[in-house]
Amino acid sequence: MRCSEKVLYVNGNIVTMDAEDRHAEAVLTCGDRIEAVGTAAELRPLAGPAHREVDLQGKTLYPGFIDTHSHIEMYAAWVAYAYCGGTETMQEALDILQHHAGAHPEQPVIMGYGYDDTATRDGRGPTVAELDALFGDRPTVLVHISIHAAYVNTAMFRLMGVDPDKPNDNVEVVCVDGRPTGLVTENMALRALAQLPPVAAADLKQGLLTAMQKYNEQGFTSTIGGGLGLGGIDNAMTLQVLGELEREGKMTVRCHLPFFTTGYRAAKAAGLLESPGSPYVRLHGIKIVTDGSIQAFTAAMMGGYPTRPDVRPECIVSQEDMDAFVYEAHAAGQQVVAHGNGDGAIERVILAVEKAQKRCPRSNPHHLLIHCQTASDSQLERMKAVGLEPSFFVLHVWNWGDRHKAIFLGPERTARIDPCGSAVRLGMPFSLHADTPVLPQMTMQSIHTAVNRISRNGELLGPDQRVSPLEAMRAYTTYAAAMTLDEANRGSIEPGKLADFTLLDRDPRSVAPETIKDTAILSVVSGGRAVWGTLKA
Ligand SMILES: [Zn+2]
Repeated sequence: MRCSEKVLYVNGNIVTMDAEDRHAEAVLTCGDRIEAVGTAAELRPLAGPAHREVDLQGKTLYPGFIDTHSHIEMYAAWVAYAYCGGTETMQEALDILQHHAGAHPEQPVIMGYGYDDTATRDGRGPTVAELDALFGDRPTVLVHISIHAAYVNTAMFRLMGVDPDKPNDNVEVVCVDGRPTGLVTENMALRALAQLPPVAAADLKQGLLTAMQKYNEQGFTSTIGGGLGLGGIDNAMTLQVLGELEREGKMTVRCHLPFFTTGYRAAKAAGLLESPGSPYVRLHGIKIVTDGSIQAFTAAMMGGYPTRPDVRPECIVSQEDMDAFVYEAHAAGQQVVAHGNGDGAIERVILAVEKAQKRCPRSNPHHLLIHCQTASDSQLERMKAVGLEPSFFVLHVWNWGDRHKAIFLGPERTARIDPCGSAVRLGMPFSLHADTPVLPQMTMQSIHTAVNRISRNGELLGPDQRVSPLEAMRAYTTYAAAMTLDEANRGSIEPGKLADFTLLDRDPRSVAPETIKDTAILSVVSGGRAVWGTLKA
């Protein structure tokens, strides 16, 4: 790109995150790139007479943060529906949903998301009868916070082709006394979501603008997608809308997007995965969902759940299919992005990558194991050997940690969920994520949790899995950049890289660790443009 304008940022605490971990006072950008890093006195002669100067007022400038797992297009499409998370009772969530239904008579399906059953005093979700009583004949789905389960009413069962009055052989349609309860999991939860009317392009566009602003507010300049095609949003439309936004100069988050298994082969055949992409949209790789989620009791745990011996979830992909998908993508030079929560699912992914590497060795493929919450040290070691890198959902320690201990996993396994400390000891790069829309983006809380591992109830869970603030910042910058397969252009503040920055009011590496979460994100620069916050550049 031709340099159009030079901007000199001065009077800052610039944390470059380069290999020598250098700090600087000033950085010079030219168009969308970084030209030089140093002192203001050194850089002014390079800046030329026409440059603009931006005073950072002593604040801390990091490379733009990189989110390594979320579903930005799903989040954008769901802006039209009811967020039912963060409630203390089931009734509160149902009130939100009912209010939404009343306000949107035009929506043929009533949809709420973010419902966290075990965080409510009721500890459960609504039954089919409870939903029928409130919503009658309007098909209704209340999506569990994990997105691996949902609660539906009779009208929705009918749309899904499920007889609401008969026992169902499918384990994903939970039945009690020979009748579906309304709780559906995994593929059946996705089938319920597939009944939502297709989102219109104009709504998706507006939703993406809102979503990107939310990401910018949390410091993000890049994201790795959770699988195009998940959630029933038309891929062609998503790509068309992203293309329009980029042509209009409205993109503020760089999207690195793998295709969900259902769309991968068509995308490959259409040549979409061969193109280098544009500055804001790159299509790469395959997303495979291996199991469910711990807090929906659908993660494939090898030892089962201590509190629920009756529940022994299997992976939702056979080893054979996993091997085939992984080999196909790996041999084609593509990135494998595999979701795995339970150690049984993690094992399945590792085995597949080991086999693929044996048949077709590749160095540094940067395959990703998303969530990777219950990996053992020996599994992490094997991951390192084959270039399979973890993106941990460390916010679980804070948000669900108390419940993992009491309800899902028991104390011993809870102490080592999201084992960032083990990854550091093994010399492995790792990243962190919030899985939006599962949780809203909350970057400083995520960094804080990786460093402190304090649960909502204030309990320290797994002290030996804590990491230094430096490692936690790497998880959102340098380590994450390699996972976007674009570390030559992002992840650190160095000449030649993209001018993507995140401005903080303090350096999380030099404050008391227990105050990291109070760090304010002041501004975000994307490709040399201030796209959010206080900076005018
Ligand atoms: Zn996800």
